Amino acid sequence: MSNILRLMTPPSPYDGDTSPRFAQGRTAEASRLSSASMNDPYEKLGVRRRINAAGALTRLGGAVMAPEVVEAMAAASRGSVDIGELQDAGSARIAEATGAEAGLVTTGAAAALTLAAAAAIARWDVARMAALPHVAADILLPRTHRTGYAHALAASGARLVDIGHNDRGTGAGVRGLEAWEIEAALSPSVVAMGFSVNATSIVDLPTAVAVCGAHGVPLIVDAAAQLPPKENLRRFIAMGADLVAFSGGKALGGPQASGILAGRRDLIASALLQQLDMDVSPDTWTPPKLIDRANLRGVPHHGIGRGFKAGKEEIVGLLTALDRFVTADDAATNAALEARLRAIASALDGHAVTLVPAEKTGRVPVLEIAVPDALAASVRLQRGDPPVHLSERHAARGILTLDPQVLLPEHDAPLVEALRAALP
Ligand SMILES: *Cc1c(COP(=O)(O)O)cnc(C)c1O
Repeated sequence: MSNILRLMTPPSPYDGDTSPRFAQGRTAEASRLSSASMNDPYEKLGVRRRINAAGALTRLGGAVMAPEVVEAMAAASRGSVDIGELQDAGSARIAEATGAEAGLVTTGAAAALTLAAAAAIARWDVARMAALPHVAADILLPRTHRTGYAHALAASGARLVDIGHNDRGTGAGVRGLEAWEIEAALSPSVVAMGFSVNATSIVDLPTAVAVCGAHGVPLIVDAAAQLPPKENLRRFIAMGADLVAFSGGKALGGPQASGILAGRRDLIASALLQQLDMDVSPDTWTPPKLIDRANLRGVPHHGIGRGFKAGKEEIVGLLTALDRFVTADDAATNAALEARLRAIASALDGHAVTLVPAEKTGRVPVLEIAVPDALAASVRLQRGDPPVHLSERHAARGILTLDPQVLLPEHDAPLVEALRAALP
């Protein structure tokens, strides 16, 4: 086993176990490594562990959960609870953390967007819930916000209607979204407006809030990857968004398949109703507190969100991670990350490495590494042993970004070794 792999082997729960099972004729070190491998689920499956310096990317497994989160999930798994009651408790926690009236734990930000759209379409109408995705409904979306995740809004059955001007997005001009462009697109079939918020698009959010508010059109904000900073948990709600979606499996550090939908109580209730298991008897069904049965003319069937059910483990894991995220000391976390990045940068002496502090990125500090052919270097790193991932988001500018958001501290040394070998 190479030094690199030894460094990557996770600690064994049998550390210190000197029983004959693990010690037979071996050195303590060999015994430790072999028992560790036996307990490594990835090794059992023949799947390699990777060094992730690319950020909390979904395709690399998202966040790395803190032991406290994993323990809460394990404890939650051993028992039965009413999922509606659990979501009610989650709603109160999410409301507290975001400033919203209510909240829902979803199976990711994409699921939150589909549920948000379904809520905007159906509201309290059980017949419309039953008809989804086959309804005539439009969701307005600024042209420059047509990310790959817009599919999640369309999955509700709504038609996405592009609005606004593209000049600022394409760099051809200075104009962004204007009020009249939203107003001109309004019609009785418009059920909501979507908005993908980030550091650039946020300048247009007040315009969207004002026009949507004046016309009673719910504004659904995709803020999936806008954490940290933690202030953003409250920011878009405070600005007037009706519903905001966050990923749980990215910076929040929750289970990978978790997310948050926060916002208006009536819309959250509709989203919850369309996600819950509804194989219930109308005579005995006790709805969650969020759902006022007087608003329903009947008990809905399984809704469009039934396939995105959040399990008790995800709900508890997400809420535990949210608590940690809210109380964490961001300044201390960023200072620690910056110290690690400085050490890595000095070990890469001779390469063009720039440390970009958290104040500049708006999230965590990163290292930008200038590489002549960035994509070729990225491929070499990914094909190495162990495989290494840097962010390719600025590859077109000849930069690979070392994003330490989910980089395990024990990976710093093997990462440096791999970078030294792979960078020209
Ligand atoms: C990651 C992301 C999503 C999807 O989030 P999941 O929690 O993985 O479902 C949606 N929108 C944006 C902008 C994202 O970055």
